[in-house]
Amino acid sequence: MNTLESLRFDNVYGGLPGIFHSRHQPELLENQYLIHFNTRVADLLELDPGELSRPDFVSLIGGTSAWPGTDPLAMCYSGHQFGQYVPRLGDGRALLLGQVRTRGNRLWDLQLKGSGRTLYSRQGDGKAVLRSTIREYLCSAAMTGLGIPTTQALALFGSDEHVYREQLETGAMLIRVAPGHLRFGSFEFLFYQNRYDDLKILADFALDHYYPVLKDSREPYLSLFSTIVDLTARLIAQWQSVGFCHGVMNSDNMSIHGITIDYGPFGFMDRYQAGHICNHSDRTGRYAFNRQGPVGLFNLGCLAQAMLPLFDQSPEQAVEKATGELMKYEGIFDDACLKSKRAKLGLHKETDEDGRLYDDLLTVMERDQLDFTNTFRMLCSPGSGRNGMPCSADLTDWLTRYRKRLEIEETNGRDRRRAMERVNPRYVLRNWMAEIAIRKARDEMDYSEIDKLVGLLARPFDEQPDFQVYASPPPDWAARLSVSCSS
Ligand code: AMP
Ligand code: MG
Repeated sequence: MNTLESLRFDNVYGGLPGIFHSRHQPELLENQYLIHFNTRVADLLELDPGELSRPDFVSLIGGTSAWPGTDPLAMCYSGHQFGQYVPRLGDGRALLLGQVRTRGNRLWDLQLKGSGRTLYSRQGDGKAVLRSTIREYLCSAAMTGLGIPTTQALALFGSDEHVYREQLETGAMLIRVAPGHLRFGSFEFLFYQNRYDDLKILADFALDHYYPVLKDSREPYLSLFSTIVDLTARLIAQWQSVGFCHGVMNSDNMSIHGITIDYGPFGFMDRYQAGHICNHSDRTGRYAFNRQGPVGLFNLGCLAQAMLPLFDQSPEQAVEKATGELMKYEGIFDDACLKSKRAKLGLHKETDEDGRLYDDLLTVMERDQLDFTNTFRMLCSPGSGRNGMPCSADLTDWLTRYRKRLEIEETNGRDRRRAMERVNPRYVLRNWMAEIAIRKARDEMDYSEIDKLVGLLARPFDEQPDFQVYASPPPDWAARLSVSCSS
């Protein structure tokens, strides 16, 4: 186990040419203090969790006594936001502190979020507020618990610093941990600047550090793209399986590692609604729940465009190769969705009607305004779990069909139930749960709820009798909670 000083930094990204980044020192917030740290994330880094409660931890992050081995920089990228190309985005309020290499030779990016203005801040203040930082901190833990690839959050800091959004709030900071922070937009930036040599440097960087096995393939750049297509399709299929809505699937918020990144106005659905929009600023529903699959393809199209010069000297050939890979997306996405649909219904045998059976349940759920998470959990134990749940004629009909379908299964009821309980979570991070944690932290400086939720959400599939209330749909006070882009 490492101390903060003995972590082995190997800042490979910082070795890239200047166009890729801009160096800045993190700015501490006024009276910045540690609110919480996640021991599971410390374990990934082989860091002694006790190190995080060291009194000098905060000052080590700021400029006063710089953290040995770190080399803070903002990463440059661009991207398509709501379909429009924005030529320069980049880390406007985040800094890559450095990259830690573990004994097992894994690289982990350590990034601060909310650490002050950078070259890429545009009109922004470079800060993050407590409300959105708590939401990201909790959701990183929730997704990890669900087994969905995501950036992680090592530590959460509060402060006395005033930050203005729609109202006066306080500033906060997060240490984000990820295999890497390269986005589709990292490639787009170089392509639209016509920097094809740098584009190649970036692709080689990704291959060397993240996908070395692909270097032996016949067309490594095409294999890299193909891998990203595959990972992205599977990631979004996983979102669909738990009712997760990302909210801002701009191409700068899409990771080449196939992990969930940039938690803003995300939400886990309570009542199922196919076209649920979790982001109040998304007027047209571009990023609605049932659009996430197709939007993934749009974003991959943006990445394909940016990588074209790498695929072939002839533009026609390059387009053909890229198109060939893009065409695979829908199949991978649909297969992954179908697999998760069968698993959620506890179906081992495969019939052509399984997808339809699942989709018809969604239709009933939408009509009856049923809770997404709880309906599937109820199916795990149809005899006992329906207590208190309304059961319309449509649902009764569907359940009859479902029972009939189960008759051809060879697994026994108990094994099926066990398997279903491993894929249909009891607990997800509902907006109202995050909201309680936020209010307690903001109004009373009481951080116990954050701690409680991190523990709960690490085991979302297990019944935790003391926490039954967290398996409930929103209480009345939270029925109309809205989440905007402001963070
Ligand atoms: P997001 O919607 O959070 O993915 O952010 C889009 C872009 O705006 C990124 O380049 C961010 O770094 C930048 N950004 C968001 N909020 C701020 C802020 N408060 N200050 C500076 N840049 C920001
Ligand atoms: Mg972003």
